[in-house]
Amino acid sequence: MLVGGAKIGRWQPTSVGRHGFDAAARRADPGLVVEALCGVEVSTDELQQIAPEVAWIREKTCMDCWRVLAARQQ
Ligand SMILES: [Zn+2]
Repeated sequence: MLVGGAKIGRWQPTSVGRHGFDAAARRADPGLVVEALCGVEVSTDELQQIAPEVAWIREKTCMDCWRVLAARQQ
């Protein structure tokens, strides 16, 4: 099992909650809009900035993304 690996996606806090994103979304060009694993759209500008420590605590974990990631680890 690759926790945090490219194959299963990674968590990132955003202004609309903490979502899972594929590596491709995280590497997309600035100024684009990409989808989290649950389908929520987030700008790459927001996705690729370093999230402040407090954002990891403040933002709620998206349970739809959680289910997608859990299923991939079966
Ligand atoms: Zn999500």
